Amino acid sequence: MDIELMKSQVNEVFDLQKAHAFKMRTSSAEERIQLIRSLHDWVLSHRQDIKDAMFADYRKPFTETDITEIYPVLSEAKHTIKNLKNWMKNKRVPTPVTFLGTTASIQYEPKGRSLIIAPWNYPFNLAICPLVSALSAGCTVMIKPSEMTPHTSALIKTMIEELFDKKLVCVIEGGLEASQALLAKPFDHIFFTGSPAVGKIVMRSASEHLGSVTLELGGKSPVIIEKDADLKDAAKKIASTKFINCGQTCVAPDFILVPKSMRDEFVKNLNEAIDSLYVVDGLGIEKSADYGRIVNERHFNRLNQMVEDAITNGATLAKGGKNIPAENFIEPTILTMVKESMLVMEDEIFGPILPILDYEDIDEALDFVNKMPKPLALYAFSKSDKKLGYIFKKTSSGGAVSNDCVLHFIHPELPFGGVNNSGIGKSHGHFGFLEFSNQKGVLKQRVGFTAVTPLFPPYNKAKEMIIDGLLKWF
Ligand code: NAD
Repeated sequence: MDIELMKSQVNEVFDLQKAHAFKMRTSSAEERIQLIRSLHDWVLSHRQDIKDAMFADYRKPFTETDITEIYPVLSEAKHTIKNLKNWMKNKRVPTPVTFLGTTASIQYEPKGRSLIIAPWNYPFNLAICPLVSALSAGCTVMIKPSEMTPHTSALIKTMIEELFDKKLVCVIEGGLEASQALLAKPFDHIFFTGSPAVGKIVMRSASEHLGSVTLELGGKSPVIIEKDADLKDAAKKIASTKFINCGQTCVAPDFILVPKSMRDEFVKNLNEAIDSLYVVDGLGIEKSADYGRIVNERHFNRLNQMVEDAITNGATLAKGGKNIPAENFIEPTILTMVKESMLVMEDEIFGPILPILDYEDIDEALDFVNKMPKPLALYAFSKSDKKLGYIFKKTSSGGAVSNDCVLHFIHPELPFGGVNNSGIGKSHGHFGFLEFSNQKGVLKQRVGFTAVTPLFPPYNKAKEMIIDGLLKWF
């Protein structure tokens, strides 16, 4: 689209949504549920279109799209439909004796005009789940899907145009220019999912208008294998969550910390686990219908450079290493003898490369994790609750899972999000509703004499005695 045309569309819709945002303030739970139900039904009846779009974008396997894009959206919609009435109710809070005669409650009002900026790696899920939250809270929405998955973005646009008037929800397609045109607008709330680097740009823009932000970012999510872990079980769960979506998952295990004495046994189990997932009839993994591709050539080159750098600097290729440039195919790749200074340990990998680092003592592993920016997720494998408790207490991460990976993302009652470098704010279910709502504290006072009237000036001895009592007893 012509940039000037896109900018004028942004301006026009932003103004249109202002009046509608006022209207949405008084919308009922039933009205919002109806909007979310229409979205739910559209997704269910266009399952194949969604799968086709994602296959066209980066050869995402159909079943993976069902599990990681369609299911999370349907589940988010159903959970919200079931609970919204309750979430929207004013919540009475207790009244202390100093507030005698008053009542107080928290009332949930929509923040107003919201913007959702989505990434490419789960391009449907990560644009539409926040939309469910925004609608549940009663916000108007402008969505900017990722330019890197154009088929999915076009489908999202079609869906939104079929379901909603643009004064309520509108999709603006495009890359940097579209993002910049949108970020120049004084949105009441911005929900951004993407990299920490762009997250900073978003937060800077929001600060110009003091708009609130939810930043769902990334980072290097570690896996810690304890000495008593079941290695076969751990390997299978790590392999299945690492290599889904070809490793391009914000909460994918990024690197593994394993006791040195167990490393070889763990690598053997991991290799077997990978083969059991993707090798059919002895054929290479590139023949598997269940293994995806890297989104584009830029990321394909970035990932290959990481592997080359690691090997040049002394890492051992314990599995994989094969790539097919014409298909953006990179085999699941395991690296051992990895050092902190290697490229693969610098930034989030976001691809099917899994570095393995050894440790001798658990505190050494925890110190290593604590030296890095706080990750989006942390995974620990152990049979001992005490050991798991120790690991979770001594580290900070957006979320954590024991004896599995990634699953906390789809638990409807858990807040999802990062901490500091991996994100600000939480999403999903009730937490998503709260993120798009202003929690207004409302105090109702009686007319005339109240508990605080005796404290009005002019102050005198008697009033000071009351104040002394207040300071002492309340
Ligand atoms: P990205 O930050 O490059 O892009 C995200 C969005 O921001 C896109 O829509 C893009 O068009 C826009 N954008 C890019 N550059 C911009 C700029 N300079 N100014 C304004 N907008 C800009 O991220 P990505 O490559 O699409 O996604 C990968 C990243 O997202 C990884 O770091 C991953 O961990 C993270 N991620 C986080 C979550 C989560 O839920 N926390 C989920 C998925 C991905």
